[in-house]
Amino acid sequence: MGYKAKELTEEMLVKREERARKRRLQAAKKAEESKNQTIERLTKTSKAKVKTLRERKAKAGALPTVCYRNAASGITVSFPPGAALPLLSSIVTAPPPPTPCGVSGCPNLKRYSCSRTGVPLCSLDCYKKNLLLQQAAA
Ligand SMILES: [Zn+2]
Repeated sequence: MGYKAKELTEEMLVKREERARKRRLQAAKKAEESKNQTIERLTKTSKAKVKTLRERKAKAGALPTVCYRNAASGITVSFPPGAALPLLSSIVTAPPPPTPCGVSGCPNLKRYSCSRTGVPLCSLDCYKKNLLLQQAAA
């Protein structure tokens, strides 16, 4: 650089300075453009995302929704008006009708079945009676 520096005239220095300035400007301009493009891309993406989310929310709002609330005042499950309860029929099953004791003359209800005969029984007394009856019948 030593001998070249001597050859440089003031005009050359000015020109070189000018070129460097232009280059810097152009680089800055490019950087700015790329920055803007990035920003635009990002904002476009987020806008699209927001739009999609909004559309999804709107769709969910249009659909009948079952709402479950667990609050201090109590637990509630709200169904949209007019919606059937598909759960109820499967959950609520009528309890089996009570079976009376199998020993004739006994007014009690069945509590267990005889392990030998399978006859519904209410107590140990009826168990014995039933066995006696079975033996008598046999
Ligand atoms: Zn009985």
